[in-house]
Amino acid sequence: MFESEFLSPSNQSAYREAIAKTVDALLAALPTRPYSGKSAAELRALIGSDMLPSGTSSLTDVLDRVRPQIVHSQAVYHPNTIAHLHPPPLIASLAAELISASLNQSMDSFDLGPMATVLELAMCEWLCKEASLPAGADAIFTSGGTQSNFMGLLLARDACVEKHWSWSVQKRGLPPEASRMRFLCSEMAHFTVEKSASQLGLGADAVIKIRTDDKFRMDPADLAARLQQMTQEGLVAAAVVATAGTTDFGSIDPLRETAQLARQFGAWLHIDAAYGSALLLSNLHRNLLDGIELADSITVDFHKKFWQPISCGAFLLRDGEQFKHLRLHADYLNPESHEEQGIPNLVGKSLATSRRFDALKLWMSFQAMGRVKFGQMVDRTLELAVHAARRIASNPALELLHEPALACVVFRYVPAHAQSDPDTLTALLRQRLFERGVAIIGHTRVHGRQCLKFTCMNPAISEADLDALLDEIVKQGRDLEGS
Ligand SMILES: *Cc1c(COP(=O)(O)O)cnc(C)c1O
Repeated sequence: MFESEFLSPSNQSAYREAIAKTVDALLAALPTRPYSGKSAAELRALIGSDMLPSGTSSLTDVLDRVRPQIVHSQAVYHPNTIAHLHPPPLIASLAAELISASLNQSMDSFDLGPMATVLELAMCEWLCKEASLPAGADAIFTSGGTQSNFMGLLLARDACVEKHWSWSVQKRGLPPEASRMRFLCSEMAHFTVEKSASQLGLGADAVIKIRTDDKFRMDPADLAARLQQMTQEGLVAAAVVATAGTTDFGSIDPLRETAQLARQFGAWLHIDAAYGSALLLSNLHRNLLDGIELADSITVDFHKKFWQPISCGAFLLRDGEQFKHLRLHADYLNPESHEEQGIPNLVGKSLATSRRFDALKLWMSFQAMGRVKFGQMVDRTLELAVHAARRIASNPALELLHEPALACVVFRYVPAHAQSDPDTLTALLRQRLFERGVAIIGHTRVHGRQCLKFTCMNPAISEADLDALLDEIVKQGRDLEGS
């Protein structure tokens, strides 16, 4: 009675037909604008209320019903979708998603995904080499930068407590001295540093923000001064977080100087390279990551500039032994006897238990594209950002805030009329572009001023696309001021 509902060697035609129909339905409804502009309330009305109908429906009917879901999606591939670190996914990675979802392997124990486990291990080994980490390094795939940052800070916390107070957080919880621990990062670091500190029982106030220079990079002099001051106050630097590619500006903290200070003060160095890790594959700019090999742990995101569908990230660890702070043995998944027999069970290195086989899509993308072309795509996004920055700098209606790093360009709209408030106008302009389905552009505050932002993630767009978008932004801004 249920056999036709599931893929199996004896039930292939239903699967083939379902996938083919789904592809047709998807392609027929693909949005051609960045966004339809519908409000959340309008979207809610399109969904109706029958979440679980009592009877069955044909797939054709269901695909009819799913059409609004497709139509009112954000078009990640559109040249004017340029707000976030949110890429169009590679076709090879989408093909891989079909395989990994259909086979539904899980990454917790070897028997739940034998080949999947071995491929993830091989990809992790490759990744550690690519980051020039020494022998003994280890890695694990994660759901993304948030989880990888959390893991880095968790291991930093537990290693710090073990070193200073000979105490196991895993067994005994936080020690009485925990209130003396601090994490240090730049004021441009990702908010998940504070979020992690809060979740790790140290509290968000345990994060010390270090000043950045005029290029939005952590200032090593300020870092040194704060570390010095902390020592005098009896505080303990559990971790220094350097960012390789800040979310707003793409700026890369001085990795070598930061690493040296972290070592001098006995702190764990975590490098958040969620964004900048793509430079590992760059043909022209790999040198910008010099010093990444000095990290104790590294965050890598593949669902950013490796063009993978969400979710796909990794966490790299200089000394793989440090995963011990996470490991607990479950008799049903990773009994200690397995370790003795050399059976690899990834659950011991992960925050998750059941986990997707995300390494496959990255591997298939690499196989399809090859290193040279992948590197060219990375480099192309930087080239596009430089072009956009030049155009902005030469347009009196726009103001460039920095030289682009990685592929971020932060700028302002300059009002034609002195009486227009630029901050309000900028916010309205961005909203207008979104609601009219014209463009999805980013925004951020710099020194208290409201700014616009491009994040060039799509190597398939052209200089002409960027020029047209900038002209449109100015035109809509002028219309807004006139209205
Ligand atoms: C995107 C980003 C993160 C968070 O990563 P997710 O994959 O969204 O969880 C962390 N750090 C930096 C620098 C980022 O750009």
